[in-house]
Amino acid sequence: MTKQMKGGTMSFFLCTCGYRIGFNVCPCRNDGDVMGHRDRERADDLISREVEQYLAAVREGRRDSWLREFYLDVFPIEDASVISDIFARTIGDLSRAIHQCERCGRLWLQAKPGENTYASYLPEGAWRGALEAPPEGFLGYLDGQDFFDAVIAEIKQEGGTVRVVLQKEDGQNREVEFTGVAAVKQYDTTEKRIRFMSEWSSAPPLRRFVFDSSDQSSEPLLDIAAREVRFVS
Ligand SMILES: [Zn+2]
Repeated sequence: MTKQMKGGTMSFFLCTCGYRIGFNVCPCRNDGDVMGHRDRERADDLISREVEQYLAAVREGRRDSWLREFYLDVFPIEDASVISDIFARTIGDLSRAIHQCERCGRLWLQAKPGENTYASYLPEGAWRGALEAPPEGFLGYLDGQDFFDAVIAEIKQEGGTVRVVLQKEDGQNREVEFTGVAAVKQYDTTEKRIRFMSEWSSAPPLRRFVFDSSDQSSEPLLDIAAREVRFVS
């Protein structure tokens, strides 16, 4: 199927699975650019030529007039930023945006550069994070969870057992149980919605589990060091 992205102030796109894909963070961990080989060659040519012309203008004392033509304005800017803008402009003109929905794995591919129409592709198996660049220590997302847009309703601790109660948008509760818990770090979870629970490397026998927030802030919602985890409901 194909779809239009929504514009306006609410910058999001509603995936077929119901997940709201936001566009308020750049670079977004699930966004990418797609370029065919022929366009890549064209981009290579255009960029090399434009950089060459810029360098010639600098050498020959015509930098201001080059800037005026490229930016329609002259302002203080470093050479590295000019070259970066040459890259960005050409790649933006020739590539198509791609986004993978992190909830269902659907790929949304822009039909043509600059056009607001997207085609969807659904993977046959469970496949997520194709465009992500995982940070160091990241082991993976745990299978069997669907906590998207849930909030942390309650954290119950009894000795070395911690139960996290999550309330989903439809009012249903999910519960995750951690046993052999060594540490629980809770951050500001007010009004914050969950994206995923992921596992990170830790000194054995402990495992480290992190709930992160759907607003893509770098601070997690909950960070638990435990021996085992189990989805209760
Ligand atoms: Zn989806």
